[in-house]
Amino acid sequence: MTSPPSPPFEPANTLGRRPRLAVHKLSSCDGCQLALLNAGESLLTLAERFDIVHFAEAGIIDVDAEADIALVEGSVSTAEEAKRIQAIRARSRWLMPIGACATAGGPQALRNLADAEAWIASLYPEPQHIDARPTADAVAAHVHVELELPGCPVSTTQVLAALASLLAGATPFAEQDKVCLDCKRRGQVCVLVTQDAPCLGPVTVTGCDALCTSLGRACYGCYGPAENPEVATLAQRFAELGLDAEAVTRRFLFQQSGAEPFQQRVRAWHPKLQAGSATASADRGRDLASADRGSSMLSSMTSGMTSADRNLSMTSKEDDDD
Ligand code: SF4
Ligand code: SF4
Ligand code: SF4
Repeated sequence: MTSPPSPPFEPANTLGRRPRLAVHKLSSCDGCQLALLNAGESLLTLAERFDIVHFAEAGIIDVDAEADIALVEGSVSTAEEAKRIQAIRARSRWLMPIGACATAGGPQALRNLADAEAWIASLYPEPQHIDARPTADAVAAHVHVELELPGCPVSTTQVLAALASLLAGATPFAEQDKVCLDCKRRGQVCVLVTQDAPCLGPVTVTGCDALCTSLGRACYGCYGPAENPEVATLAQRFAELGLDAEAVTRRFLFQQSGAEPFQQRVRAWHPKLQAGSATASADRGRDLASADRGSSMLSSMTSGMTSADRNLSMTSKEDDDD
């Protein structure tokens, strides 16, 4: 989508009133709203500095309210949501999708690689009542957005920092570093090098302060692709660790199946996807699902991500630790 330049955000001290803040929800688990609710004392400051006009998890409901800043959690997964995001855009000066669902489709974007209609028909006795689009999309696939804050869930610190910047009339900072850089800053031992763990830190944008790797666990990429990620190189490294193509593919698509750089790995793995666009079509999904390995992979992914990921040596250890 072509993006018009974002208007400068008028600082609160010249606005003459508290900026209005809305927190909207599309298809999601509410985890990103909860990340905001978990802000502790900062939540009280937020309520002092902003006029919170809509935030369902906090009990404030006015979905049609005009807002200076709208945070949006969740992916555009239904026809109703495709209409609603247009209305939210029209009523908001600054639109900020928060979390992996809103910035890359989230786990529900796995259906983008398959035949969603067939899934619905097999799951629901009366599929005609299900309002589900063939794909689960990032918000930016439908409307212009000013800033995306990734993560599953989004980082509370990043959201608060972005809001604080806007209060001061400054453009919020968008993180560009990779998780590896946070590891180095913290002086952590690399789990990829020392434990042969399939860590996605080299291709994942940080913002989590290297949360998983600081606990000795491999990053699974929940913040999504960093700038210029060397996906093919890392995939080759995972193969050298002993992961087969299917396991490597699952690793990249576990949380970010809607992210174009990670999808490249799928297309490299399956020749039928080579010529496709970033968002897989239903036809392409049918092609993939009809191939033996593709069918195996997709059915494993949809029957339970945990069991699928358990095939990975490092993640098996992680599951044991839980
Ligand atoms: S990004 Fe993760 S935590 Fe946030 S709504 Fe989506 S699934 Fe939930
Ligand atoms: S543990 Fe992962 S994120 Fe940290 S330095 Fe190693 S590869 Fe990078
Ligand atoms: S280390 Fe990776 S998987 Fe863990 S929170 Fe950070 S980005 Fe997400």
